[in-house]
Amino acid sequence: MLMRTRAAPAAANAPHAVVIGSGFGGLAAAVRMAARGWRVTVLERLDAPGGRAYVHHREGHVFDAGPTIVTVPHLFEELWALAGRDFRAEVDLRALDPFYRIRFADGDHFDYSGDPERMRAEVRRVCAADLPGLERFMAEADHCCKLGFEALGAQAFDRVGDLLAAAPAIVRMRGWRSLHSMVAGHFSHPKLRTAMSLQSLLIGGNPFSVTCIYSLINALERRWGVHWAMGGTGTLVRGLASLLDDLGGTLRLGADVQRIEVEGGRATGVTLASGERIAADVVVSNGDASWTYRHLVDARHRRHWTDRRIEHGHHSMSLFVWYFGTTKRYEEVPHHTMLLGPRYRGLLDDIFRRHRLADDFSLYLHRPTATDPALAPAGHDTFYVLSPVPHLGSGTDWATESERYRQAVQKALEATLLPELGRHVTVSFVTTPVDFQQRLLAYRGAAFGLEPLLRQSAWFRPHNRSEDVEGLFMVGAGTHPGAGVPGVLMSAKALETVLPEPAALEARR
Ligand SMILES: Cc1cc2nc3c(=O)[nH]c(=O)nc-3n(C[C@H](O)[C@H](O)[C@H](O)COP(=O)(O)OP(=O)(O)OC[C@H]3O[C@@H](n4cnc5c(N)ncnc54)[C@H](O)[C@@H]3O)c2cc1C
Repeated sequence: MLMRTRAAPAAANAPHAVVIGSGFGGLAAAVRMAARGWRVTVLERLDAPGGRAYVHHREGHVFDAGPTIVTVPHLFEELWALAGRDFRAEVDLRALDPFYRIRFADGDHFDYSGDPERMRAEVRRVCAADLPGLERFMAEADHCCKLGFEALGAQAFDRVGDLLAAAPAIVRMRGWRSLHSMVAGHFSHPKLRTAMSLQSLLIGGNPFSVTCIYSLINALERRWGVHWAMGGTGTLVRGLASLLDDLGGTLRLGADVQRIEVEGGRATGVTLASGERIAADVVVSNGDASWTYRHLVDARHRRHWTDRRIEHGHHSMSLFVWYFGTTKRYEEVPHHTMLLGPRYRGLLDDIFRRHRLADDFSLYLHRPTATDPALAPAGHDTFYVLSPVPHLGSGTDWATESERYRQAVQKALEATLLPELGRHVTVSFVTTPVDFQQRLLAYRGAAFGLEPLLRQSAWFRPHNRSEDVEGLFMVGAGTHPGAGVPGVLMSAKALETVLPEPAALEARR
């Protein structure tokens, strides 16, 4: 049971924190800071909060732009409690069962759920010999969740000593193995190897190269469930914004930060594209970490995150997302479907290593109206389908490719889950890697920041407290622990551990 005691709004002369960006990480950080007595201003360049979780309203359809799979609900409960409010009373969170359907290229499918008996039945159906591997895999994933998520997820890797202290845990998890090789140690059937390893793609990690520590995703889904917030993910964004408001914080929309001001090695505020200067005692960037350093902090203030280092970093994949409504309801289609193409490793190599836009694809189809019909006009469905694609390093000219690609995706859907789709599509629009770069200011249009490789994780990821500029902090997918809604909510907790107490700054004035 969480204690709900509402913190008093900060005094008018309390130390001022500017948070750049209103993604889940930025809003969570702002709520935590406001509850601790900071005067908080969130500056968001778009016309609504949420970042990747922006909401598009078109012709009676509600389209959540990004995250749809909500796990670890207690991370939200904690934030609500900080404002003295009850998350469960305000947000209608529905547990999904099964979590998602994985449909293979041959038409067979695997319903992935949190129910141990039904999971065993699914595994047995695909390959009975792999049944003992399921318990072994889940036990190992649980171990990674306890060490990697619960123990290390909210700890800022601020000093090399933090890394050394975590090293035994990384050794115990044998974190140098890739996720796929760990999974392959437990399952022999290619379908099961795919079904148990694709989860890292939800946070922009290639299962063949991310550390096996990310099996923690399988464990946290099983432990805390996969949920849907009725009204859409936007409900959670609006909820966080209202917590901030309750705590006396300010959210300014249409405020595009062009520069972080640094004087004597210390962040002193920001300058907006309009020329307005806003002074701050600390600046927290929820923008993409690579973009923040490369474009908002003058190169002469950066010894660590130099242009060269950023350019040589491995950035995650991007996404092509097609949002559409249909004049009919496809009742057979579940809420979440992973629609796999013929290739797994080869396709991921094209995306992550060769940076080549392939002709084939694997898709994730989101049909929120399966659970929440109010998100479309009566009798209609709301969908999005996303295809992982290389980041802008591929050189793809999306202005010319986009429609051809969308049509190929439509054809694949018509041949599988959504027959005669073309006849039923009403509203339709897409997001390409170029939008990730231009709208969200994501370096190379990467949808998940730096790829979560072991050598780009924890101490090796941009720190929650900037290595380069005093008084500058990072929160969100680009910093520790990384992308995904639970990850960025944890990054706000990690941030708290390295922020000064506002009272300490007041005393210094
Ligand atoms: C299509 C898609 C589907 C996903 N699905 C899931 C899912 O199902 N489950 C899950 O857990 N995760 C999912 N993710 C990942 C998850 O959405 C992200 O990792 C997470 O939301 C990122 O949050 P963030 O705090 O890093 O901020 P972001 O969402 O990246 O927001 C950053 C904000 O900063 C603003 N900003 C940037 N620069 C400036 C500037 N200079 N001035 C002012 N504002 C600025 C941007 O406009 C943006 O609003 C998905 C991501 C995508 C793209």
